Amino acid sequence: MSELNLILLGPPGSGKGTQGERLQEDFHLPYYATGDILRAAVQDGTELGVTAKRFMDDGGLVPDEVIIGVIAARIEGPDSADGFILDGFPRTIGQAEALAEEMAKLGRSLTAVVLIETDDDEVQRRLGGRRTCAKNGHIFHVDFDPPKNEDVCDVCGARLVVRDDDKPAVIAKRLETYHAQTEPLVDFYEEKGLLKRVDGSLSPDDVGDRIRALLATLRLEEEL
Ligand code: AMP
Repeated sequence: MSELNLILLGPPGSGKGTQGERLQEDFHLPYYATGDILRAAVQDGTELGVTAKRFMDDGGLVPDEVIIGVIAARIEGPDSADGFILDGFPRTIGQAEALAEEMAKLGRSLTAVVLIETDDDEVQRRLGGRRTCAKNGHIFHVDFDPPKNEDVCDVCGARLVVRDDDKPAVIAKRLETYHAQTEPLVDFYEEKGLLKRVDGSLSPDDVGDRIRALLATLRLEEEL
């Protein structure tokens, strides 16, 4: 494939981050997760972080005009010349339209939008049990990947915390936000023939295998 411009779509907790990191290693492409970018900005206390925090803390979305510039700058950069993997962007129709304009301006197009389908109960279970290292961001799960010592990071010994946006009320709000504002992107990209669905209830390895298989099929189709 000449370039691989990929979007990972799905509710919070569908495993986009896990798959994004794997794909980044497989394809040697930059992986841009807007949630990570915004959390780093909050941590650094930048203007972006200060603006974003207000919206992130209650499970809402930061305004389109704030986030669009952040992603456009990365897509235009030299690191993205061979492609990119987006996780958490676009999250609204407005963002998707801005991305389409940006790609057209660069004379490029999206390769595929991979939807990792996961139902709300599973999301609650996955995110509600998540524990994050307060120091290095390493993630554990009380059921699926428990730390050796309760609430202590195996990697650096720092305290494990429940991220503010992984608290049950905020998870419910994030899901509501997803259904209201992000789910319309499923039809948007389906109509453009770009949407590929993957069953997110499978194990991370199986989800990864399915994504790689569908990308291989796309490559074959491109060669025909
Ligand atoms: P995530 O880690 O992707 O679930 O993102 C965490 C939070 O960051 C979200 O709940 C939003 O408040 C904010 N955020 C991340 N990406 C976007 C985006 N593309 N548009 C608006 N807000 C975003």
